[in-house]
Amino acid sequence: NRQIQLASRPVGAPTLANFHLANTSVPNIGPGQLLLRTVFLSLDPYMRGRMSDAASYAAAVAVGATMVGGTVCRVASSQHAGFSEGDWVLAYTGWQDYAVSDGSGLTKLDPAVAAPSLALGVLGMPGFTAYMGLLDIGAPKAGETVVVAAATGAVGSVVGQIAKLKGCRVVGIAGGASKCNAAVEEFGFDACIDHQSPDFAARLAAACPQGIDVYFENVGGKVFDAVLPLLNTSARVPVCGLIANYNATQLPDGPDRSPLLMRTLLTKRIRMQGFIIFDDYGHRYPEFAKEMGQWLAQGKIKFREDFVDGLENAPQAFIGLLEGKNFGKLIVRVAKD
Ligand code: NDP
Repeated sequence: NRQIQLASRPVGAPTLANFHLANTSVPNIGPGQLLLRTVFLSLDPYMRGRMSDAASYAAAVAVGATMVGGTVCRVASSQHAGFSEGDWVLAYTGWQDYAVSDGSGLTKLDPAVAAPSLALGVLGMPGFTAYMGLLDIGAPKAGETVVVAAATGAVGSVVGQIAKLKGCRVVGIAGGASKCNAAVEEFGFDACIDHQSPDFAARLAAACPQGIDVYFENVGGKVFDAVLPLLNTSARVPVCGLIANYNATQLPDGPDRSPLLMRTLLTKRIRMQGFIIFDDYGHRYPEFAKEMGQWLAQGKIKFREDFVDGLENAPQAFIGLLEGKNFGKLIVRVAKD
């Protein structure tokens, strides 16, 4: 049983030395238990937070412990009445080949209804995050301009497509020409601006001639600096993630811009609200699952998955996620199904 453990806490960007690949024996199960074999492991930006022992909304992974993470598994053997060998389940068994479960917290998946890996992306946590953050906090109205960064990612691609379904003008922000093309051609955004281009702020302004009514914040940093002056009176800003800052060890250089932010919030009566998806919205999951399932079945929502083969490649893929190397929902294929 291969396990990827946290070897040490990163200072700044994580490196391969922060991870350790251990080999342990496959665990045995007893009555009431089942053995899960990981097929897909989800890699997500929040895992950078779990590697750190700074105070957060969730506990840190202990040094020497297996990295946490959402997984899609098959039941390898079962002594549990509710599960049979071969069943597909959504689990939270982390970066390892096998895990023992007592069945709690598992969601059965039907591969005839949707590809099991989608439970880690558009039909799972990232899709749910996009849905609630945009609709409940962003509250977009037809004709408004919605801007979202990390526009081809697991969350951003869904935010933009739901905003289109609600009749909005949607402008994405992404890193590089091929991601920007995909946002427009694959996901149907009205425009997408490359945050790496030197005149990024001017291009964003040109793409938002009516200003910005909803900014779905995934990134922070320079992207937010370009968005702030474009926000309209009564704009809504769901604060979902700040990935540009996750590796930061101190506040950025330069003048303190919080007075500018506060003045803009005040004079334009902007509502900015953070959220942690399952803590705040866990009770609304069924509503999301039903509507997103319908949209997918009707072809109204498209998705892109970025598969990496082999558990041993998870650390490098995770490091790449924080550098924008992924293109779509990042998933490690741990085993053949
Ligand atoms: P993505 O699939 O979007 O992958 C991350 C992307 O972030 C990269 O591909 C890159 O896209 C972009 N990025 C990385 N570094 C930078 C940077 N320095 N500046 C600008 N862009 C950068 O990830 P997810 O969709 O899974 O997550 C998106 C955001 O949502 C994250 O901030 C995450 O923490 C947050 N989140 C929050 C949740 C909550 O409950 N609040 C739940 C789930 C996710 P590009 O190359 O296009 O810039």
